[in-house]
Amino acid sequence: METPAAYKLTISRARLSEQTITPQLNSTGPLSHLSIEQSDINRVVISLRPVSGFTIKNFSQSGQYLSLPLSPIATRNPPVPPVTTPSGPIVIDVPPPNPSLSQPRPSPGNPGRPDNDRLVVVVDPGHGGGDPGAIGIDDLQEKQVVLDISRQVATILQRQGIQALLTRFDDREIDLQPRVDFAERVNASLFVSIHANAISLSRPDVNGLETYYYDTGVRLARTIHDSILRRTHIRDRRVRRARFYVLRKTSMPAVLVETGFVTGAYDAPRLRDPDYRHLMAEAIAEGIVRYLRQN
Ligand SMILES: [Zn+2]
Repeated sequence: METPAAYKLTISRARLSEQTITPQLNSTGPLSHLSIEQSDINRVVISLRPVSGFTIKNFSQSGQYLSLPLSPIATRNPPVPPVTTPSGPIVIDVPPPNPSLSQPRPSPGNPGRPDNDRLVVVVDPGHGGGDPGAIGIDDLQEKQVVLDISRQVATILQRQGIQALLTRFDDREIDLQPRVDFAERVNASLFVSIHANAISLSRPDVNGLETYYYDTGVRLARTIHDSILRRTHIRDRRVRRARFYVLRKTSMPAVLVETGFVTGAYDAPRLRDPDYRHLMAEAIAEGIVRYLRQN
């Protein structure tokens, strides 16, 4: 029997409110899966899968409302083709039938399985591959900035005897759940996701550092945040709480560092500068080490 396609709606420039509740599905309803997640600082992902025999047709957008009508698949007619990408800021990605989740490997030089007596820090460079993340001044891409910083954070930690593993070590796209699965599988002590922020190219005046936690990572967030403020002249946009997927789904202390605005007139040239990225990596690693020593 044919499995119905899953649909993923990515809504840019969106933030879930703290009060957001994912609707409970009725077991006899036309949906078998529905989730609403904050996947990035300004991006919400809605995933849904109709039950067998149903499909979504005639997707429409009117004003601030999205409409996804679910219809039974007529047995005499061929199945309705999946929804295509509409214009505007809303993008629907229909995943391939056999999504091959790129399995993160331990970073070079590491054994496949972490030693029991060593702490494991998972460093998670956001985005990658077909998902560039935020795009800023002169096409500065978040995925490139954060990969370079993350690799250096991992290298610095390893030099200090801390096992640091990357969720991606090159320019590839990895979904959010495999990043969480990886951290759980290697029994990570800490999870540090590294991103760069964006607002709009018409707001170069907005610059600064934001560090996020959801539940258990508040002290780790403060320690890394303070370390970056001490080492750089970045503007302080504070430690904040937010419902990011990778923060909510990981069981260890987890933080997400927004290392500056790729759209910011002050931050963007610095994030583009390899020396500054090295300084940022040193500051993040220093914060992680300090946190581990205190605990
Ligand atoms: Zn990001």
